[in-house]
Amino acid sequence: MEKILNYINGKLIEPVSNKWLENYNPAIGTVYSLIPDSTKEDVENAQKAALNSFHKWSKSSIKERSTVLQKIADLIIERQDDLAMAESIDNGKPLALAKKVDIPRAATNMSFFASAILHENSESHHMSNVAINYTLRKPIGVVGCISPWNLPLYLFTWKIAPALAAGNTVVAKPSEITPMTAFLFSKICIDAGLPKGVLNIVHGLGPKVGHEITKHPNIKAISFTGGTLTGQKIAEVAAPMFKKLSLELGGKNPNIIFSDCDLEKAVSSSVLSSFSNQGQICLCGSRIFIERKIYDKFKEKFLEKVKALNIGDPLEKTTKIGALVSSQHMNKVLNHIKIAKQEGGILLSGGKQFIPKGRCANGYFVEPTVFEGLSFDCSTNQEEIFGPVVTLTPFDSEEEVINFANSTKYGLCSMVWTSDLNRANRMSDQLQSGIVWINCWLVRDLRTPFGGMKESGVGREGGTYALNFFTETTNVCISYN
Ligand code: NDP
Repeated sequence: MEKILNYINGKLIEPVSNKWLENYNPAIGTVYSLIPDSTKEDVENAQKAALNSFHKWSKSSIKERSTVLQKIADLIIERQDDLAMAESIDNGKPLALAKKVDIPRAATNMSFFASAILHENSESHHMSNVAINYTLRKPIGVVGCISPWNLPLYLFTWKIAPALAAGNTVVAKPSEITPMTAFLFSKICIDAGLPKGVLNIVHGLGPKVGHEITKHPNIKAISFTGGTLTGQKIAEVAAPMFKKLSLELGGKNPNIIFSDCDLEKAVSSSVLSSFSNQGQICLCGSRIFIERKIYDKFKEKFLEKVKALNIGDPLEKTTKIGALVSSQHMNKVLNHIKIAKQEGGILLSGGKQFIPKGRCANGYFVEPTVFEGLSFDCSTNQEEIFGPVVTLTPFDSEEEVINFANSTKYGLCSMVWTSDLNRANRMSDQLQSGIVWINCWLVRDLRTPFGGMKESGVGREGGTYALNFFTETTNVCISYN
């Protein structure tokens, strides 16, 4: 059986313990590869390699760093078919989605930051006749990047690219549930000529490997994407050590449909924002609020499209809904569906495990599920489900829907559908979320600030926000006299 290997000091190596974890293909429910069950020793070796390579990498020219990162981007594109297949098998997502979104975006993450550092500028503050200040931005040192399973290579590179571009060296941990593309990525880094030790990838369990990375005194910053509870645990360890922390956490995003919207567009986009990647995107809109005047019309059109979604084998071209990432996660989602029913939810569509015919009969599929009749403050509308489950709720006024939207502990993103520009501005001003999409969803410009408010996170990623996070600032003040 294929063994995934750690990438430490430029080499692909087995874990010190020689212990392995099983890696499942969630669409067929069987083990298909083995992952290092890494321990403290592996993290120690990784951080040593990163520390040894820091001086040279941080002093390398911007051009040098940019060139090797761009080479990595080019190799991702060259190998995109293999990477997309690997992502689909490892995660259960439709192959078509991995080809269209995950892998191209991973390449773009690398090339975006390869280019961004070429165009950086620094600030200066002039004090007439007294002094001039200029701001230096310096790489931090060894940094830790910890990423989740829902968009494996996409989110892994989203952290690693700015960290490396800014001149840091990295110890990274992908999710133990979806490690394959990070492994293929390490081969790409070797082939691209990334100097040894600059990036180190340690596979294994969060509470072991992730925890060791978080608490290691030589690892000076942690960039983490994952669940809010894990984010809390990481902050508990890292904050007393005064590590820089970037936390991108959970969401329970509102999707708000006003009666003056372009209904066809709102319906089509809402199907995507509800069920893309089986609803396992932190930016999915799982609470759909619809102005009462058009509630029935929206519901009818929405359900018609949801019922037409093809669910099944992720490798089939026509599949729109693939498998959930693990049996454990599937059971968690099914339990949320049970709770929604107990809370009085009226099931409009789905609601069960789906068992495809053929090779995927033992896979972890859940039907796209739609509820109505739930209050905005019940647990179904407050807790993150992170699966193909949405609720429909009518509203009567802007004030009411703002109250519904802002009622959760999360604040990642919101969607608003309206043709009234003033209303769009009023809503954006009042919604407690890091991102507001007006008449669209998931339109991304990588220069913009990305992240959430409240328990959806701390800090922002993207463009200069990420480069600033991965650097320390020194103000130099030069006297004129
Ligand atoms: P988890 O929080 O379970 O895991 C995220 C990563 O942290 C994994 O690599 C995990 O390892 C690791 N980890 C687990 N425990 C620890 C620990 N004690 N110390 C350090 N690292 C640890 O999240 P999921 O992988 O389940 O991802 C889903 C969550 O991610 C959802 O809540 C979703 O909303 C959020 N998310 C947020 C995004 C955002 O940008 N705001 C984007 C995408 C997802 P292992 O897998 O091996 O346990």
